[in-house]
Amino acid sequence: MNLEFTQEEIAFREEVRAFIEENHPKHLEGMGNREDMTPEDMTAWHKILGRKGWSAPAWPVEYGGTGWTPTQRYIWSEENARVGTFMPLPFGISMVGPVIYTFGNDAQKQQHLPGILSGDVWWCQGYSEPGAGSDLASLKTTAVRDGDHYIINGQKTWTTLAQHADWGFFLCRTDPDAAKPQEGISFILIDMKTPGVEVKPIKLIDGGHEVNETWLTDVRVPVENLVGVENQGWTYAKFLLAHERSGIAGVARSKRGVEKLREIAAQETIDGKPLISDFDFARKVSQLEIDLAALEYTELRTLAGEQAGKGPGPESSILKIKGTEIQQRLTELTLEAVGSYGTPMYGSIADVGSNQYPIGPDYAQLSAATYFNMRKTSIYGGSNEIQRNIITKMILGL
Ligand SMILES: Cc1cc2nc3c(=O)[nH]c(=O)nc-3n(C[C@H](O)[C@H](O)[C@H](O)COP(=O)(O)OP(=O)(O)OC[C@H]3O[C@@H](n4cnc5c(N)ncnc54)[C@H](O)[C@@H]3O)c2cc1C
Repeated sequence: MNLEFTQEEIAFREEVRAFIEENHPKHLEGMGNREDMTPEDMTAWHKILGRKGWSAPAWPVEYGGTGWTPTQRYIWSEENARVGTFMPLPFGISMVGPVIYTFGNDAQKQQHLPGILSGDVWWCQGYSEPGAGSDLASLKTTAVRDGDHYIINGQKTWTTLAQHADWGFFLCRTDPDAAKPQEGISFILIDMKTPGVEVKPIKLIDGGHEVNETWLTDVRVPVENLVGVENQGWTYAKFLLAHERSGIAGVARSKRGVEKLREIAAQETIDGKPLISDFDFARKVSQLEIDLAALEYTELRTLAGEQAGKGPGPESSILKIKGTEIQQRLTELTLEAVGSYGTPMYGSIADVGSNQYPIGPDYAQLSAATYFNMRKTSIYGGSNEIQRNIITKMILGL
């Protein structure tokens, strides 16, 4: 793994930097996950990248990927993190897209891949249920065959941004009598406008509406929407989770986050001196940077492995754990740096037309909301405790 950029790679960096500079909407720079983002804001960059042919760098070229090397993909992430672009949501590009081009049939590829690439079709993930999160294989939503349809009944939960979704990919039980619970599950695509699909909001502690309950009552879905083979959905579900997890690490964004934290800590003071010169605070920031550098090398090794034809395997669990711990520590240190200015919870300050007057510097305004919001990262994509179990079994062989 050579980390010196070649002349070609430097030229590539210039090219993508210029493209981002010219094409990324200025009003969306550094928006992160702010509550006032509209669905149009969230898909704006995706659609621009779709037109350029750059929305899915990791896909095989034959399906619309860019054919970039791991180093080019690394440069691409870095350049996006520099300006804080809102990258394509993972549900289409990183999750169901790879499942469809790997296990789907030609008709499914033709129907779904173009809309995923262009960003015109919004997808959501229907895996978790009230009684099936970590123990996902115990899921109860049923799909019962009725002629050339499945009749689907059940309740999913935590369905992220399903209120905007056009389509969802759902895990459903198609064989309740299978010897093992994993063996009776199928992976089914559902048009969210189908009668019987109902999406109800779950309000989070940061005040946002990011997740939902999704109720499915006698939802009639054509059998053509089954991906792969009936009762083998668990295989596809696990394949998807490995892609989901490696994408959660967010190294480039955390690097930008640490830079921002240093900027904040240079402006905030303690005993009349810049906070960043405080030994204890500086030590915590340095430790974070060291851990982030270690994670970066692990991610680069994984990317290099992918380039050599090895899909993301159990090492994606390491990326997930370390990446999310770092993201959480970053928000903790930011909250610590802004001190009492972090105390007000501006549930609606970001709302369009809000007349609340912020207290303290701009960078402090959403620090508490972000801190609370980022607690999710060690839970979603499979909790970090479960990732440790996977590492113990699959990597350490214990
Ligand atoms: C913000 C957010 C967005 C999400 N988005 C989606 C989505 O879009 N689609 C979707 O399908 N799901 C989504 N999820 C659900 C997510 O995947 C689950 O929350 C997660 O898998 C954990 O399941 P659970 O919440 O049922 O917790 P549980 O499984 O009940 O776990 C509770 C606690 O027990 C621990 N635990 C459980 N079993 C073990 C074990 N064997 N060993 C050690 N510890 C254990 C867990 O680590 C956790 O700390 C989202 C979750 C969040 C928070």
